[in-house]
Amino acid sequence: MDYSQMKPESLMMSYGYKPSLSEGAIKCPIFQTSTFVFNTAMEGKRFFELAYGLREKDAGEELGLIYSRLNNPDLEILENRLCLWDKAEDCAVFESGMSAISTAMMEFMAPGDLLLYSRPVYGGTDHFINHFLKKLNIEAVGFYATDSKEEIMAKINATGKVDRLTMIHIETPANPTNALIDIEMCAEIKKELSTDEKPVILSVDNTYMGPVWQHPLKHGADLVLYSATKYIGGHSDVIAGACLGSKELMARVKGLRTFLGNMAGPWTGWLLMRSLETLKIRMDQAAHNASHVAEFLRNHPKVEKVYYLGLIPSQGNEREKEIYRNQYSSSGAMISFDIKGGEAEAFKFLDSLKLIKLAVSLGGTESLAEHPQTMTHADVPMEDKKVMHITEKLIRLSVGVEHHADLIADISQALETI
Ligand SMILES: *Cc1c(COP(=O)(O)O)cnc(C)c1O
Repeated sequence: MDYSQMKPESLMMSYGYKPSLSEGAIKCPIFQTSTFVFNTAMEGKRFFELAYGLREKDAGEELGLIYSRLNNPDLEILENRLCLWDKAEDCAVFESGMSAISTAMMEFMAPGDLLLYSRPVYGGTDHFINHFLKKLNIEAVGFYATDSKEEIMAKINATGKVDRLTMIHIETPANPTNALIDIEMCAEIKKELSTDEKPVILSVDNTYMGPVWQHPLKHGADLVLYSATKYIGGHSDVIAGACLGSKELMARVKGLRTFLGNMAGPWTGWLLMRSLETLKIRMDQAAHNASHVAEFLRNHPKVEKVYYLGLIPSQGNEREKEIYRNQYSSSGAMISFDIKGGEAEAFKFLDSLKLIKLAVSLGGTESLAEHPQTMTHADVPMEDKKVMHITEKLIRLSVGVEHHADLIADISQALETI
């Protein structure tokens, strides 16, 4: 069979796993073990030579199992399966989305360097950039979805450190407003400012749409990052992360992961493999539901404005329409909306929901609602929140896999209480 011709969803149950190596078990067992027995001392020596890059691989040779901080079957098979969605050469799974993001940033930047990043980014990422990286003397310059390429270049030049730009990190669609960033434009900036001695690395946090509806590598990104806690895990019961890219870059990411020791454990690997089997159907169902919910909200008299990708073809500007057509294969399952009124009305709505739970996080089977200004984005400076429309009347919904009629009934009764 030519696996490369198949869709990823067809391969999530079997790819990379050989039942004959596990007593014929149809499912990959949980390899709950810290270390692996070598057949001979010479074999152990040869595994270590490969693991530490002391010799090249022989034709067809794979790195043998050594120790679960370096490799474990549950992680390796999961990583191979994740590669299929993004057509990536290699993948590293982490114990959280934040450890994937922070490890990649620490590997590709050094003290004195400059980072360009889109705003808003996930609160934890924002904190890491503006507190921890600052402590390492790594400066960061932010830009908004509304900035043109010329405006972004002007911002980089204004730092006086254009020759020290080593990384561009973006999130698109932006959380919580679904504003779009053009990955190909960022890849152009990266190319223009890369030199042989100092390549610029472009990383995209694809948690909101991936790995099904947006594939950043194809648009010129070097690294794709995930909070696997969200859609990949998909059941709100595990924290994990992933980073994908070329073999060359991933060798560096995995190298640092080995020494930070922030790889995921076998149990997490097993849970995520189980989740991947239903990834496509979960995400498709959630997106289908979201289109119904968005349509209901758009026509509701107590709702002022809806931020949803599916509205871009009819309501967006030319630039948004172009990015939407080029980058996305679905309008996703994340919706934000401005309720008429302020914090009191927003809180009344949130407190009145019954089926939909009031919680942060996203991408799970159950629908969740939250208030970005005072919850997920509490830490973002007020003036920045204003620019990005994160106001007291904004509510964010992560639409799950329930029946859309029940979700709409719940939203409807909660809006009626206002
Ligand atoms: C949740 C999230 C993260 C952080 O992931 P954890 O798994 O919670 O560490 C990073 N980026 C985005 C976009 C997220 O939603």
